Amino acid sequence: MSKRIVESYKKKLASEEGYTTSRTASLRIALCYPNTHAIGMANLGLHTMYELFNSIPDVACERVFLPDADELADYEKGGTPLMSLETQSRVRDFDVVAFSISFETDYLNMARMLQLAGIPVWSRDRTHYDPLVIMGGAASFLNPEPIADFTDLIAVGEGEILAHQLVDGIVENESKEDILLALARIGRGFYVPAFYDVIYNDDGTVFDYLPNQEGIPRRVGRALAAVNPKEGTLRRALKRGETELADFLLSQETFCPSTSIWSPNAEMGERLLVEISRGCSQGCRFCWAGYNYYPPRVVPAKDILAKAREWRHKTDRIGLVSTAVCDHPEISTILRELRAMDYRISVSSLRLDQISDELLDALVESRDQQIAVAPETGSDRLRRVINKNLTNDEIVDICGAVFDRGMLSVKLYMMVGLPTETQEDLDEMFVLVERIKNRLLEAGKRFGRAGKIIPSLNGFVPKPNTPLQW
Ligand code: SF4
Repeated sequence: MSKRIVESYKKKLASEEGYTTSRTASLRIALCYPNTHAIGMANLGLHTMYELFNSIPDVACERVFLPDADELADYEKGGTPLMSLETQSRVRDFDVVAFSISFETDYLNMARMLQLAGIPVWSRDRTHYDPLVIMGGAASFLNPEPIADFTDLIAVGEGEILAHQLVDGIVENESKEDILLALARIGRGFYVPAFYDVIYNDDGTVFDYLPNQEGIPRRVGRALAAVNPKEGTLRRALKRGETELADFLLSQETFCPSTSIWSPNAEMGERLLVEISRGCSQGCRFCWAGYNYYPPRVVPAKDILAKAREWRHKTDRIGLVSTAVCDHPEISTILRELRAMDYRISVSSLRLDQISDELLDALVESRDQQIAVAPETGSDRLRRVINKNLTNDEIVDICGAVFDRGMLSVKLYMMVGLPTETQEDLDEMFVLVERIKNRLLEAGKRFGRAGKIIPSLNGFVPKPNTPLQW
């Protein structure tokens, strides 16, 4: 075991609070994030799974990251097998190696980590003595096929519901084969690639997937956590004054995904991250999050505020994570109470049509000088094609309202390659950015600062389960 790697891990642990260590639990899970510690600790999915697994009696979950450059050199030089962060145990000695993957670009790192751990990379080469290799996370119900052959089991859906089913399936069955069969037979949420034969067309494209075991569903549905109030139902109940229904919805016991380990040296590590809602009702035709997390659900304000109170002694910064922050039916209460606690509030991204004065005031107060918005294109026509119903005039006005408050930096997310795109649509993108720039300069003069526009241009990639899939 390399002393330098152990020292590096202990240094990371010394800066953290809230992690757990146990070598004696009857089920040990290595929760792997296929990127470095600094990046992984900014991922709320990782925090959530760590908290969920460790809340199950007799389960101990530890984190494993892709080693930093220096650590990697030491791993390769000394031939040390990949270790967990908390107890520096060999990853291959855990019962379960569970990858939480949010981005397809991290798929290669998964194979790299298996190699470093000394675990056979291909699922078919593993034996009963190797750990069960699982993949979960947002990418698992986006596009798991590229790594299906590396994986024994793919958890398709949300961790809040799948973590407990997974642990039950493991502890109630003896052999790896029985565990996989029991989980696959649940019919929803667990996909075992080895239990399907792929039938190809003559041109090499996939014709069908056929189960090769009894009781296995032909199609594996995603599993969604159902206890959180649906955003639309709660909104209507509050709007119509149906207090009995609203109280019932808000009284449900829900899980509030949030930072579970204080890790100030990681990206965004100095702030408490709280997921306030999941999914979005807008139905933009390219948007994977909108369709795959449907229906949109919220975490009640009382649970968000309880977390905020609990963490206030540690930080005055809070990041509200959501695809649609302002859609939360209790957003006014959340913002008011967080401001009363003297929190500096930031948001993951803003839906342009939902930016409210109270949210802008909260963001200005937080001294975060940059917001991120997504016009997607500079063409009103193309925006209608993708069902994002905003016009360029509205976008310029909204950006103007942001600049007028002294926030003079905006990041614009745009895409090229959308269906039906023409050269005129692309030209309109420049016109839109120019208009926003002029509005920025106008506001900047009043504040005596220049400001900044950061356009982020990405190629359109059709996502599964969206209308633009084909
Ligand atoms: S508004 Fe944003 S999160 Fe909602 S569907 Fe459209 S792109 Fe997705």
